[in-house]
Amino acid sequence: MSDGSGSESPTKKSPAAKKSAKVSRAEKRKIEREIQNMPDHWTQEEREAEIERTKKEKEVVAKGERKLRKQLGRKLTQGEKNQVRLALYHPELVDCWGDLESNIEPIKPVPMEAHPSLKLTLLPFQKESLFWMKKQEEGVWRGGMLADEMGMGKTIQTIALLLSEPRRKPSLVVAPVVALMQWKHEIETHAEGFTTCLYHGSQRVKASELQKYDVVLTSYGTLEAAFRRQQRGFKKNNLLIKEKSPLHSFKWFRVVLDEAHNIKERTTNAAKAAFALDAEYRWCLSGTPLQNRVGELYSLVRFLGADPFSYYFCKKCDCKSLHWAFANRRHCDQCGHTPMAHVSLWNSEILTPIARYGIEEGGPGKTAFKKLKILLDRMMLRRTKLERADDLGLPPRTIVVRRDFFSPQEKELYMSLFTNAKRQFDTYLDSGTVLNNYSNIFSLITRMRQMACHPDLVLRAKKSALAVDVAEGTVCRICNDTAEDAIVSACKHVFDRECIRQYLEVTQLRGHRPECPVCHIEISIDLEQEAMDLGEETGKRANQGILSRLNVENWRSSSKLEALVEELEKLRRKDCTTKSLVFSQFVSFLDLIAFRLQRAGFNICRLEGGMTPQQRDATIQHFMKNTQVTVFLISLKAGGVALNLTEASMVFMMDSWWNPSVEYQAMDRIHRLGQKRPVKVVKLVVEDSIEDQIVQLQHKKLAMTDAALSRDPDAALGKLTVEDLGFLFKL
Ligand SMILES: [Zn+2]
Ligand SMILES: [Zn+2]
Ligand SMILES: [Zn+2]
Ligand SMILES: [Zn+2]
Repeated sequence: MSDGSGSESPTKKSPAAKKSAKVSRAEKRKIEREIQNMPDHWTQEEREAEIERTKKEKEVVAKGERKLRKQLGRKLTQGEKNQVRLALYHPELVDCWGDLESNIEPIKPVPMEAHPSLKLTLLPFQKESLFWMKKQEEGVWRGGMLADEMGMGKTIQTIALLLSEPRRKPSLVVAPVVALMQWKHEIETHAEGFTTCLYHGSQRVKASELQKYDVVLTSYGTLEAAFRRQQRGFKKNNLLIKEKSPLHSFKWFRVVLDEAHNIKERTTNAAKAAFALDAEYRWCLSGTPLQNRVGELYSLVRFLGADPFSYYFCKKCDCKSLHWAFANRRHCDQCGHTPMAHVSLWNSEILTPIARYGIEEGGPGKTAFKKLKILLDRMMLRRTKLERADDLGLPPRTIVVRRDFFSPQEKELYMSLFTNAKRQFDTYLDSGTVLNNYSNIFSLITRMRQMACHPDLVLRAKKSALAVDVAEGTVCRICNDTAEDAIVSACKHVFDRECIRQYLEVTQLRGHRPECPVCHIEISIDLEQEAMDLGEETGKRANQGILSRLNVENWRSSSKLEALVEELEKLRRKDCTTKSLVFSQFVSFLDLIAFRLQRAGFNICRLEGGMTPQQRDATIQHFMKNTQVTVFLISLKAGGVALNLTEASMVFMMDSWWNPSVEYQAMDRIHRLGQKRPVKVVKLVVEDSIEDQIVQLQHKKLAMTDAALSRDPDAALGKLTVEDLGFLFKL
């Protein structure tokens, strides 16, 4: 094959000719394969025409790509190549962002008075959003996203919108379970003459029944279940029964998704159930800074039905669809072309460029980010507490870290745990298997965090993995603690929702597939599934908690627990009306705290996972309305989201997690509209434990995400690199 041998023997074909013959043979085979791969129902003529067309397209595309390359002065990204191809059959996409920018003017909010049936005076910025929302409904999206920071009264602003015209068809509000009662209260208190219906859980109801109300309130779980029963059916007496979803059987006037990031995963059933709702107007409410969560935005844009940004487009014909529909996995149900030929405009234009190239000035990611901004400026309204501080009149908030030390005895226990953990970690480090042992490392870290709270959390933990008589369903397999808000994986292991969420957050390192911490196969778990029903029997046993395993007579407190008692007693002496919230991730720790505080004469109440909305509501009201109840214990797993606890002005964070957004959410429960006193947050940290490192890591991670826009800041915060882990195992 060398040049020499080719020229020496003239009878053989020249290398170039040989090569071209080879190429054309390969080409031929490729064409044959392509023809074979076409949908079965295509005729031979159609197949040949398709091949002919493809050939012509190639020339046009090559020309288009050359032109764009020249224009940009660099190689094209996949997204830019898609642009050139899509222009062939979808000319409307050629300048869709420019069209958007020039055809739709962003709405400038000006104050608008609420309808007199609203029994409350709106704050200036709330009057502005009312105007904005009304205008937005007249525009192309017929709705939008209200993304004010938490605690600025998005519920009230939405109620003002619901009241803004004479009553028509009913509206639907979908919210997390914990927020449902709050919605009901606020509507009943502030919306004169409005009727509400709480549709939650397994109760059955007819569509005609729902239509009698002004507002129907439902949870994401109920929405999803109703849709699932309709689409996939359910088994009853071995028969598959399909049942029409009452929520999907008529057109709502407005549909409002509260905490709309609940549908952030576009492929989950909750998201699909929301997409399938029929409505005149659509709204998303969210307090998280959506503009920094490009990955989560698609679902909301899709819910609003934004055309063309939520559609899939075919590069080989004018096929355009909201659904990724490939029933036989090989051909588009609509046009017969392959999945490869179809492009999600959102992914191609926004998500992939930002994820791959960041937002470096002049790069493809920056261009994508500018496009995103054009869209959000016309679809979303977000104000922050800081911006509207004058309107809100919110008192200041301070965060302090209280540092304590272990007692000599605790120190000894901690050090023996730490030494073992460190030895194990070093083994992984030396053999380069840190990433393969994430689940073990995660559990080592959890043990150390528990030890820093109270030795009993480790020493008296249920030996769930060994004891046969303990029912699997009652214990979280990550913290070995009584399960709360428990969910189950595909491999049938039970975890607290919060524990497994944090676990996944940490393990989802780039290219590393998370495994089940128990059985070590690749884990598959729906984080949005309804909590397990642990049953009355197990429930009774579970309520006993860690206390049943202690000898109450000679029980010892811990340094951290005593630090809390000291803080609370100081408060009580100063002003006995001050109310405090105490947050912890560990249910057993809350058991111990409750036990200790009651002994110290505090009147406390407690919010636990697994409470029904009514139970939660009763507990919250109990805390808010009784002055003698001064301490509220809340499990971080019990979903602190959407609580409004402005009667309290102190927060104690009993154990720190390296993703500070969990803590901010907890603090926002009280630093919100209606708060009259200055808010103080105390983080309790044991100085000579892993907690000190965790707090340092928090600051480091926070500084990092402030500096850059990331695809999912929460995930970035939650992720731990090998370096981070090494840092945690330092002393
Ligand atoms: Zn097609
Ligand atoms: Zn298609
Ligand atoms: Zn747990
Ligand atoms: Zn498992």
